[in-house]
Formats: sequence, C-alpha cells, structure tokens
Amino acid sequence: PFLIGDACVDVKDKTCITVCPVDCIYEGDRKLYIHPDECVDCGACEPECPVTAIYIVDDVPDELTWAIDDNTRFFSEP
Ligand code: SF4
Repeated sequence: PFLIGDACVDVKDKTCITVCPVDCIYEGDRKLYIHPDECVDCGACEPECPVTAIYIVDDVPDELTWAIDDNTRFFSEP
C-alpha cells in the first residue's frame, strides 16, 4: 500500500481523497491516512499531493518509519 508521511501534517490538501478510486484515504486530526488493507496500489494519489507526502510503504525513508506505526495506530483505534 501507499503511506502518507509527515509533510501532510497540518496541510491536509485532500486532492488525494478526490482522486482515490476506492475511497481509502481517511482524515485524522492533523493528517490524512491511507487504509493499508483498502489501498489497491493504483498510484493515483502520489503525483497529486502538492507536498509530496505520499510514498509506497516499502520505500518510506528511515526517518518516516514512525508514520507507519502512526498509521497502524490510527486504523486500530475503536
Ligand atoms: Fe487510493 Fe490508489 Fe492512493 Fe491507494 S494508491 S490510496 S488506492 S489513490
């Protein structure tokens, strides 16, 4: 799946939500989150992000690995 990194924090442009064909991008308090099980890896969102916040999860730079955990936490909350 794709993952949204920290560049999204307090930006939440939401163009990605508009282009996602399966509506798997959700809004949190300070950033947007891609549901890892719902993302179909189409890649449509990545070039649309004005702050280049979106990565393929396997290509996330080391300094953003916290964002993977943050994403898991977001979707595991009741
Ligand atoms: Fe949605 Fe495609 Fe982006 Fe996954 S890669 S979040 S399915 S637009």
